[in-house]
Amino acid sequence: MKSEKDLDFKVILIGYCYFMILNYWTLYININIFLKGGCVNSSLNELESFLDANSMIKKIKGTNDIVENTYIWEWVEDKFKEVAKRFGFSEIRTPIFEATELFNRGVGKETDIVQKEMYTFEDKGGRSITLRPEGTAPVMRAFVEHSLASKGLPQKFFYLGPMFRYERPQAGRLRQFHQYGIELIGSSLPVADAYTILVAVEILKAVGLENFKLKINSTGCQKCRAGYKKALKEYYRPLLNNLCDDCKRRYDRNVLRLLDCKRDAEYAKSAPNILDYLCDDCKAHFNELKSLLDTLNIEYEVDPSIVRGLDYYTRTVFEIKYPSLGAQDAIIGGGRYDNLIEELGGAPTPSVGFAVGMERIMLALTSEGKLPSPRGVDLYVVTVGDEQRADALKISRELSKYMRVDIDLMGRKLKAQFSNASRENARYVLVIGEEEVKSGLYTLKRMSDRTQMKLSIDEVVMEIKGKRRLESFEQENTTFGS
Ligand SMILES: [Zn+2]
Ligand SMILES: [Zn+2]
Repeated sequence: MKSEKDLDFKVILIGYCYFMILNYWTLYININIFLKGGCVNSSLNELESFLDANSMIKKIKGTNDIVENTYIWEWVEDKFKEVAKRFGFSEIRTPIFEATELFNRGVGKETDIVQKEMYTFEDKGGRSITLRPEGTAPVMRAFVEHSLASKGLPQKFFYLGPMFRYERPQAGRLRQFHQYGIELIGSSLPVADAYTILVAVEILKAVGLENFKLKINSTGCQKCRAGYKKALKEYYRPLLNNLCDDCKRRYDRNVLRLLDCKRDAEYAKSAPNILDYLCDDCKAHFNELKSLLDTLNIEYEVDPSIVRGLDYYTRTVFEIKYPSLGAQDAIIGGGRYDNLIEELGGAPTPSVGFAVGMERIMLALTSEGKLPSPRGVDLYVVTVGDEQRADALKISRELSKYMRVDIDLMGRKLKAQFSNASRENARYVLVIGEEEVKSGLYTLKRMSDRTQMKLSIDEVVMEIKGKRRLESFEQENTTFGS
């Protein structure tokens, strides 16, 4: 009995499978007939490409859309720009792509960036092009190309924009990421290093970030670094077999980089200390920087393991870490690059600067609960009936000279217009009805305490703008910075 039942079940199962296969086959034929207008011979490939062409296109891995948080980015960018301007820096904008050779020479052929991480391609003219992986080499290239040294030194620039590196994406690390940076070109004095670090600290404070740790080091000059590299090689030679593959490769090419390998950090701890190998000039330079930071009450820790990932650093290097961010805790990295401009074909010109990872600033702001709140419109204009729509449009044009204005564009009923005003965080709502248009006195509602008042348009401006009263955006903009 039991085996007969099993047999029945098998027959049913097989029957069902045939049925389903037939169904799918019929569906496939039908789709083909539909797609090809009756031709049943269309291949599966064509079906797939049809489906692909109609599926949603997604952003590239490692990139990000800044959609709802744009106001946070704007807020941070404005603060950073403002601080740089207060310290006498002006903006420089360089292209997003450059000749690959710039980064080979400027960043260094042996660095991870050039070896593994660059977006390099050949353009239609057969040139090797690279999407900029960092901002310093392009700024220095522009400095040389435009003979800016002839305009007087120092030259002080800040920049802001997207950079590109092919890395494994993770929190705070994207393939298109954003950096803000400053470059102080022309001074070899420790006061320039202190000034640069001061700006780095001030930009963080400007957005309310206080719990950061500044670490500084000196990597010496070409003169004293030779002795140090020799000592490092002697230290690492017996350890070579235990090191990671990257470090084995770097040992001959750029032994300094062994110090900042995360995997082999244990060995770096007892490695020779660069500070013991500094020549007298480098030692004096570093000591003066430290005393200037002391004068400014800027706390720092001397950390000989900081060598930074790029070849171009000389003497001062520094990092600002935000310990609460975990693995990606370095939010600012910078230092001095006295040979870079010469490397790029200019006259020897010492420089110092830093770059900030904007995505990490966003993470730090989030972890500290320091995000600004979105700023809504100042005024939302609502109409009682459809007849007042033209008047509302005219009044909005007038008021937009003084404040942020919005208006219903969906033909909503009065109550729904009010809900929309709340959704947009409007500070005030202006009601326009038949009576208002006739009398020229409008009902203004302050949303914070629900107070209503009857005011003329001039009085509406004065109420909303407070002290600034009739200053328009234009006037405000011209008075700023004077
Ligand atoms: Zn030196
Ligand atoms: Zn390693």
